[in-house]
Amino acid sequence: MHTKAGHELVANELRPRRSAVLNALAILLTASIFAIDVFTPFDGAIAVLYIGVILLLAPFGRRVVIASGLMTALLTILAFAFGHLSDPSEGAVSRFLVSLVAILITTLLSIRDRSSRTTLEEQARILELSHDTVIFRNSRDIIVYWNDGAEKLYGWSRDAAIGRICGELLQCRFPTQEIAAALENEGQWSGEVVRTRRDGTRLVLASRWLRRRDPDGRFIGTIESSADLTERRRADEQLRATERKYRTIFDSAGFATWESDWSETMRIALDSVPDGQQLGPWLESHPEITQQAIAAAVIRDANPAAVDLFEADAREALIGGNLCGRYTPEGSSALSNVIVGLAAGDSLVEAEVRLQTFGKRIADVVLRVTLLPGGQNWSHVLVMAFDVTERNEARARYEQISTELAHAGRVSMLGQLAASIAHEVNQPLAAIVNYGKSAKRFLHHSQPDLDDVGRCVDKMISNAVRAADVVDRVRKLARKATSQTDLIDLSELIEDAIDLIRREARAHGVTLRRRSPGDLPDVVADRVQVQQVLVNLLMNGIHSMREVYDRSRELCVDTSVMPDGTIRVAVIDCGTGFPTGAEAQIFEPFFTTKSDGMGIGLSICRSIIENQGGRISAANNELFGATVSFTLPVSALRAVEMPEPIS
Ligand code: ADP
Repeated sequence: MHTKAGHELVANELRPRRSAVLNALAILLTASIFAIDVFTPFDGAIAVLYIGVILLLAPFGRRVVIASGLMTALLTILAFAFGHLSDPSEGAVSRFLVSLVAILITTLLSIRDRSSRTTLEEQARILELSHDTVIFRNSRDIIVYWNDGAEKLYGWSRDAAIGRICGELLQCRFPTQEIAAALENEGQWSGEVVRTRRDGTRLVLASRWLRRRDPDGRFIGTIESSADLTERRRADEQLRATERKYRTIFDSAGFATWESDWSETMRIALDSVPDGQQLGPWLESHPEITQQAIAAAVIRDANPAAVDLFEADAREALIGGNLCGRYTPEGSSALSNVIVGLAAGDSLVEAEVRLQTFGKRIADVVLRVTLLPGGQNWSHVLVMAFDVTERNEARARYEQISTELAHAGRVSMLGQLAASIAHEVNQPLAAIVNYGKSAKRFLHHSQPDLDDVGRCVDKMISNAVRAADVVDRVRKLARKATSQTDLIDLSELIEDAIDLIRREARAHGVTLRRRSPGDLPDVVADRVQVQQVLVNLLMNGIHSMREVYDRSRELCVDTSVMPDGTIRVAVIDCGTGFPTGAEAQIFEPFFTTKSDGMGIGLSICRSIIENQGGRISAANNELFGATVSFTLPVSALRAVEMPEPIS
């Protein structure tokens, strides 16, 4: 079987040889006609035969046709001049003129034929080059033309396809009646057809059919051009399936989700920033711009969970609107953070806001704002909202219970200290009584020494202050205050705690020590609660040494600055230490080894310290005793001037 390229190669090789033969023939014919016209006594219109020369040379193009027309006309004139110019008969002149007219008409017709042939050749070449399939079927649906595109798409070569019935070859499926009616009425039809490739795969094609008629109006066939839609169809179907999947997920998601257009929001926010300013601080100081920008975020779609969250009647109550009026003013900063995050190119930004539903309920909501792929200029933003109202309420309840528990722990601790506190108050009171009696005695002297009386009164005052101090410390610790974070001087706080247990320590024969690097930075913490922790650890330390007789009972409070900048407070005793393996359990609630213990002291200490952003840990010492230590974050203000860490 010849390929098309093979055909062209053979044709190109033959062309010069055929041209030479035709040229030679044309010259021979011209010479013969001219000779007969001039030298023979034939009195016919011999010159008319020149039209054969013109027709012979016609395939060589327009120029050759014109040249051959002119040449043959010239030879006709020459022959006439040679034979008849001296005695022009009427018949000779009219034959001469008929010949010239014939040459002229043939030349003109050849030129026209040539140009229409060129146009057809061009058109045929374009059809060959087309990526679409071009097929010409005759009136009996037999394929008479089949281009490269058809070869490639259907898998049948030109030789195999031409002459076959198209409907059979390609197992066509199309709306026959609709096509017949359209071709009949309008002469053309366009629509979709389904066909089968040589390998059996089905194709969906966008096809355009044109009915062809001959000059007498007889139907000669149909020319059709088709493009493969299979891939596009598959891609469309895939897209639709993805969209269906997205829609199902969107609608059935258990959390509120809505899709918004944030392009205007971002434009308002970004356009508002003056030169040299940064978006974050600018929006922070201009909440009204954030409000205005958020008001421009239009909701495109919302799922049923969003309708529930907002207590709306239907999706339509949300779609097309914005949520600006729903956010409470304190959420402005969180929303401006979302804008800043999106502007910085983040594809996911989180914010916690508070919003008011259509039913006037206030809900705490965590927003997860995601930029959807494909959306330009923040035009497709997906917002997922998680209602954390219950979680926040539970957290608030937990904090309240923790505070109450901590308070209960302090009261119980003070209960343990009651005897020594009473003693500590009693001492100055007894001193006051004694100094009072002495002053009275001095006053009963015949010549009272007022200086002595004054000294007694001074002592009474200082002892009263001492007693008042003890009462004040106890009162502060017993106070049922809500958690309150302050900048606190840790050294002072440690001194206060030591003062509270000093008497208890003395009663147990415990020597108190302090180790500190000197000037400590302030820590950020709740004063009362940190003091509670310290007193608790000191008391545990004292109690751990109750049964120590073979060494001196020492309790040391060691403060140091950690490499990460936090302050570490360690309470080191030389008692019995934790029972083996108990270090992991001592912070669990109700773990106790004491017959009179409750086992909640250390668990309260842990929750207090962790709530302040610190850590608490415990370990037995190398020789004897144990160390319980905690860290606290320092004030950011002072952190810069922190002393070098102690190794
Ligand atoms: P309680 O003192 O009521 O037992 P805590 O929570 O304060 O409750 O302490 C829990 C347990 O941890 C104690 O019973 C004791 O076994 C152990 N413990 C705490 N501190 C020390 C310490 N300094 N040395 C040895 N054991 C300790």
